[in-house]
Amino acid sequence: MSAPTTSPASIPPSDSGSGFEVMRRQDPASDERRAQILAAPGFGRFFTDHLARATWTTDGGWHATRVEAYAPISLDPSAAVLHYAQEIFEGMKAYRHADGSVWAFRPTANAARFARSAHRLALPELPQDLFLSSLEALVRTDADWVPSGGEASLYLRPFMFASEAFLGVRPASEVTYMVIASPAGSYFPGGVKPVSIWLSQEYTRAAAGGTGAAKCGGNYAASLKAQAEASAHGCDQVCFLDAADHRWVEELGGMNLFFVRDDGSVVTPALTGTILEGITRDSVMTLLQDMGHEVSEERVDVADWRAGVSCGRIREIFACGTAAVITPVGRLVEPGAEHVTADGETGTVTSAIRTALLDLQYGRTDDTHGWLHRLA
Ligand SMILES: *Cc1c(COP(=O)(O)O)cnc(C)c1O
Repeated sequence: MSAPTTSPASIPPSDSGSGFEVMRRQDPASDERRAQILAAPGFGRFFTDHLARATWTTDGGWHATRVEAYAPISLDPSAAVLHYAQEIFEGMKAYRHADGSVWAFRPTANAARFARSAHRLALPELPQDLFLSSLEALVRTDADWVPSGGEASLYLRPFMFASEAFLGVRPASEVTYMVIASPAGSYFPGGVKPVSIWLSQEYTRAAAGGTGAAKCGGNYAASLKAQAEASAHGCDQVCFLDAADHRWVEELGGMNLFFVRDDGSVVTPALTGTILEGITRDSVMTLLQDMGHEVSEERVDVADWRAGVSCGRIREIFACGTAAVITPVGRLVEPGAEHVTADGETGTVTSAIRTALLDLQYGRTDDTHGWLHRLA
């Protein structure tokens, strides 16, 4: 790839109307190239022409808010993030509706969570209006990159990291915020299939007082070994138990869990400070209640998972998160044993909640909760 050129001399910078100066690159992908990528985007492999960014310093606060060419970042080798992992991120999607408009789903919830994660990682909190304008500015600039049809979307990845060049251990005094965007196809191109889950024996994801409730890269670094172990056992995902008793079900590496009982009631592990507060999790709880289900947040004993699927008290299990939306869980695997849910088929509640959520996000049903926010 040739180095991108951003030349405000020939294309004057424009204000997107959101405080972000837009410096369009002169060498965007051709229409043919973009069409080729959008035809089979996969996930997280291709990025749009631009990114949004802002800088924070102790003295200057947030400044240098702009949209510019997507390009490699130059970092000093002593940049704190490379040594002490002071970094957080968000994951969300922009959905194209049938009339061509582009929408985000509950972006203020992402903004609030981003601020909570920042607080825990001793990073500066990005004001909600800056968070929202960064998304708007980038998506308006790269609107042609938002796919339409099926379950395709433009995945948005806001992130913030300690860019100060300093090896001392303390919160950085210079921080970089960026948003990059990546067209994403349907997570299940061949149709929704139940996943298998490896029960992590040795590793935990988060402990009380740690960073489990923050969306930070460090949590993912700590989960990779367990995920590799899951793959080695032929499983799609790993399930983590609590660090103290190794008994209570917490969540998967990047998705929250729901259990549907034979009486129609639904339970999800209660937030204990070690579980990531999923926005999909929260939305699913509300939508299930709208559909007439009793929903509770409780401690879930892994012994009840094993026994429940065996006696039929647990009818369906699904995982949820922005990337894969709703994913049915077919099997729990541990050394010497396998626990299969509902013959490994996708259950009716799982299918119904999946459809309800997607219909909302793609504007096919009324947004009665006011969850959609127009981006472009
Ligand atoms: C992001 C994430 C989730 C899902 O959150 P959503 O807001 O629903 O996308 C669940 N668990 C972990 C560990 C995560 O990082």
